[in-house]
Amino acid sequence: MVYLDNNATTRPCPEAVEAVRDALEDRWQNPSSVHRAGQRVRHAVELARADLAALIGVRPRELVFTSSGTESIDLAIRGTLGAGTRRVLATSAIEHAAVRDLGEALAREQDVAVRTIPAPGGVIDLDAARKLIDDDVAIVSVQWANNETGAIQPVEELGSICRDRGVVLHCDAVQWVGKMPCDLSSAGAPAIDLLTLSAHKLHGPKGIGGLWIRRGARVRPTIHGTHELGRRGGTENVPGILGAGGAARAARAWLEDGGRRERQGVRRDRLERAVLERLPDTVVNRPPGDGARLWNTTSLGFPGLEAEALLVRLSERGLCASAGAACSSGSLDPSPVLLAMGVPEPVAHGSIRLSLSRDTTEAEIDDAAELIAEAATALARSAPPR
Ligand code: PLP
Repeated sequence: MVYLDNNATTRPCPEAVEAVRDALEDRWQNPSSVHRAGQRVRHAVELARADLAALIGVRPRELVFTSSGTESIDLAIRGTLGAGTRRVLATSAIEHAAVRDLGEALAREQDVAVRTIPAPGGVIDLDAARKLIDDDVAIVSVQWANNETGAIQPVEELGSICRDRGVVLHCDAVQWVGKMPCDLSSAGAPAIDLLTLSAHKLHGPKGIGGLWIRRGARVRPTIHGTHELGRRGGTENVPGILGAGGAARAARAWLEDGGRRERQGVRRDRLERAVLERLPDTVVNRPPGDGARLWNTTSLGFPGLEAEALLVRLSERGLCASAGAACSSGSLDPSPVLLAMGVPEPVAHGSIRLSLSRDTTEAEIDDAAELIAEAATALARSAPPR
C-alpha cells in the first residue's frame, strides 16, 4: 500500500505506540488520585504536556488537553465569545469544517455574526482582513496552513492586525505543528493568542488535541470540571496524552534537521512533475506565483473527472489519497475550500489531495505517479465528459 493521505491522519510513530502501551498496561491509575500510583501517572501526564509545549515553544501550564483538534477549536471560539461581550467571529473562506460548521451553528443558534475573509488563490486577503477586523470582532480564527492545498497563511501579518485592534487571534495549526518549526515564545513569533494542535496529524494517537492559551487570554470553559486547571473538565485521556508526548518528542527530533523537510518537499514536487509529464492537463491547485506551501501537500485537479471515482480506483490499486470534499448522498460535492480559492467547478470536482509523511519514500512517489496516471487515463476513456 502507498499511503498518501497523511493530512487525514498519520501512522503512529514507535515513540507514540510505546507510550500508549505503557499508559494502558502500567500507568492506568487516575492522575487525580492522591495515592502514589495516581501521582506517578500525573507526573507522566505533565512530562507529556511539557513535550508538546516544547514542540511549539510555550509554557506547559498554558497548554490544555482536549479530545481533538475539533474540540480545541470549539473551546477557543466559544470560550472567547463566552468570556466577553463582542459578538463577531471573523474567519476565512478556506477553513476546515471544524471552524466553518461551528461558525454556521453560532450564527444560527447564538446570534453571533460571522465575517468571512476572502482567500482568492488560497491565501487570505490581508487588505480585506484589515477592513473586516474592527473592534466589534471578538476573535479571528484562521489556519496556519491549509489542509487541502498546504497553502501557508500570513499569520504574522494577521497577528499584527489583530493586536492593533485588540482582537484575539486563534490559529488552527493542526496541519502545521509537527511538520514545521514553531516557537511561539521567540521574538519574531506571530502574535497568536490561542493555538490548536492535534496529535494524530503528527504521528500520535487519535482523540487527543490541545489548545494553547496565551497567558492573560480569557477563555471560558465549555466543559466544566476541575481538570486541566478548571479549563476543561473530564478525567484525562492518559493513553492519548502520553502518546501525544511521544509523538511530540519524535517530531522535535525530526524537525531539528531542516534538510529532511527539504528532501520530502523535493519528493512532493517530483510527484507533481511526474503526473504533469504523463497528463499535461492536470491542474495543481496552489497559490499563484511562489506562494508558500507545506512541504508535504499537493492538490491535483483532473478536469472533467470525478474525484470519487478516481479515489476508488486508486484505492483498489493500493494508493490511499483523499478529496477535500464532503460525501453527500453518494456523490462528492466539490470542496468549498477549492471553490473559495477560485478553482473552476469542473477542476474542483476532479481534484484529489495527496499528502506525504516524513517517511514517504521516492519509490512510493514513483509508484503513486504511475497509478494516478493509469487511473485517470482509464477513467477519462470510460467516463463521458462532464
Ligand atoms: N483543522 C484542520 C486544519 C484539520 O486538518 C483537522 C483534521 O483534519 C482538524 C482541524 C480537526 O482535527 P481533529 O481530527 O483532531 O478533530
